[in-house]
Amino acid sequence: MGGRLTGIRVALLGGDAREAILLEELLRQGALVQVAGVPVLPAREGYTWYDDPLAAVRGAQVFILPVPGVNSEGRIYAPQSEQPLYLNQELAAAIPGGTPVLVGVARPFLQEMAATRGWRLVETADMDEMAILNSIPTAEGALMLAMQELPITLHGSQAFVLGLGRTGFTLARLLAGVGALVTVVDRGAADRARALVEGWRVVAFTDLAGVIGQAQVIFNTVPDLVLTAALLAATSPEVLIIDLASAPGGTDFEAAMTLQRRAMLAPGLPGKVAPRTAGLILARIYPTLILDCLERL
Ligand code: NAP
Repeated sequence: MGGRLTGIRVALLGGDAREAILLEELLRQGALVQVAGVPVLPAREGYTWYDDPLAAVRGAQVFILPVPGVNSEGRIYAPQSEQPLYLNQELAAAIPGGTPVLVGVARPFLQEMAATRGWRLVETADMDEMAILNSIPTAEGALMLAMQELPITLHGSQAFVLGLGRTGFTLARLLAGVGALVTVVDRGAADRARALVEGWRVVAFTDLAGVIGQAQVIFNTVPDLVLTAALLAATSPEVLIIDLASAPGGTDFEAAMTLQRRAMLAPGLPGKVAPRTAGLILARIYPTLILDCLERL
């Protein structure tokens, strides 16, 4: 089989439906993929499944970890695997320094291990191409949650979006598309100007306290504490807050509980609401990344 990745040996450990789609694409492009844990496929050219993760990483030129990566105990995300998979010292020692390690999000455990071992850690979730494409399933998931939780339609609702980055922009567009009355809150003058072009109401964070009481639903995308206790106290008791920012989010959840405001952190939406689309995004981006890491572009 000929393809851009012909002969490149890749180790893939753990994952879910997204990595299964990525695996199919790597094989289609000719890579030799050594898998431990999941995904399990019927026997086919280029694919080898190993019981033992140590065997799966041996000889690999690139190491792929699942999008959520590794937790603080070194456990690799592999919800469908019968056996837990751990990135322990023995496994780490089998991955030579300089090896590209691709992962969606690298938490401190993996960051420290990569630094100690001299791996080339590539965090993909925050790359523009990934983040912009992932903003679509994220925004759809956010709307789904709002529809499930609200007793009113989004159409005609006062919907606030905090932060007009890659996720916030797509989300605001989607909300406007279903007829919500969109208010965006952003600290950047250029982003606020873009929002005005779109026809959305625009508010600076410094003026938020004066209008936040109008919001029926608030979506936060800012990964910093922006929904403080003081601002929450100014919200309507009926408001729904959906915080999309990475943990711990941008909401003072303790204050929200004390004030009896409904607030939820909603992590990992692409993988939950649209695993196939999220997998296709990986399949679109990773082959080029692999070639780039191996300087074969
Ligand atoms: P992004 O493009 O960097 O956008 C972040 C926005 O927050 C920008 O507008 C940024 O403003 C603003 N911001 C950052 N710090 C701020 C502060 N202290 N005060 C006011 N505004 C601030 O990021 P993104 O790709 O949209 O992702 C946003 C968050 O969602 C991240 O935490 C990401 O990990 C998370 N995420 C979650 C999901 C999910 O499923 N829940 C999916 C994808 C992403 P500037 O441009 O001025 O810096």
